[in-house]
Amino acid sequence: MQSPLSKNRVFRFAPSPNGLLHLGHALSAILNHDLATACGGRFLLRIEDIDPARSRPEFETAIHRDLAWLGLDWEKPVRRQSEHLAFYAEALERLKAMGLLYPGFLSRGEVKARVQAHEAAGGVWPRDPDGAPLYPTEERALDRAQANAWIDAGRQHAWRLDMDKARALAPAVLDWSEAGEGPEGETGIVTARPERWGDVILSRPDAPASYHLAVVLDDAAQGITDVVRGQDLFHATAVHRLLQSLLGLPAPSYRHHGLVSGPDGRKLSKSNQDTGIAAYRDKGVSPTGIRALLAGYGFVFH
Ligand code: GLU
Repeated sequence: MQSPLSKNRVFRFAPSPNGLLHLGHALSAILNHDLATACGGRFLLRIEDIDPARSRPEFETAIHRDLAWLGLDWEKPVRRQSEHLAFYAEALERLKAMGLLYPGFLSRGEVKARVQAHEAAGGVWPRDPDGAPLYPTEERALDRAQANAWIDAGRQHAWRLDMDKARALAPAVLDWSEAGEGPEGETGIVTARPERWGDVILSRPDAPASYHLAVVLDDAAQGITDVVRGQDLFHATAVHRLLQSLLGLPAPSYRHHGLVSGPDGRKLSKSNQDTGIAAYRDKGVSPTGIRALLAGYGFVFH
């Protein structure tokens, strides 16, 4: 682990350009920036535009504009995930060669139908920490020749991690250092339980690398020592630690911060324009006012 005062610490803010930044993003970006400044470390911005269907250039422009308006300063050039597809593909091939991936052909609707049938018969279907049903593990046993024939015929599929095989290959105890806290107050050394996510997707036809795969590869490539992000990604860290272990990547320290809720007490979303940084600016709120608003929610800056 890094000493808290090490000048070698590297922080990053990694938004996806699929909407306007809101107060929660302002909190993440300011925390990363201020923590980096406090220890004489580096602050990077990374554009997570791995999903072409959801990423828009105008949101990327807005990210730069809003962060600059907040008074933040980051190193250039900015890494954009869409410019590193071959890098992610190479890691995907490595995991395939390790026998850890299989093609999953079921659509979300087909999975849902299976879950409903199972539950209608009184069964309990396992769900991930976000509440989504896990992918049926019997799909791992699909005949390889059949799968290859379907792939050759152009049938849509996602590459999924066989969680049992992956778990068996990684150390029995996988953990991370948490300087913030999880939704249940988890802090300190946290045990990673990636199996709660089932056979996660690492590549889809429309996005060559999943968020999980791209994020661990980029954090390692950029020498990130400290990942500071919202608590909504706390449980995903278990998958990240597993992938880091399988790919031989270093583990950063993590600090998950609480989420900023809207005036109605609900989680902020990028589609709610009222709580966007730009909306506050348009209403005449200053960057200092944004910090004061966040402090009002109980968030402490360093
Ligand atoms: N790109 C992710 C998001 O916008 C954040 C990734 C991360 O901080 O690990 O939610």
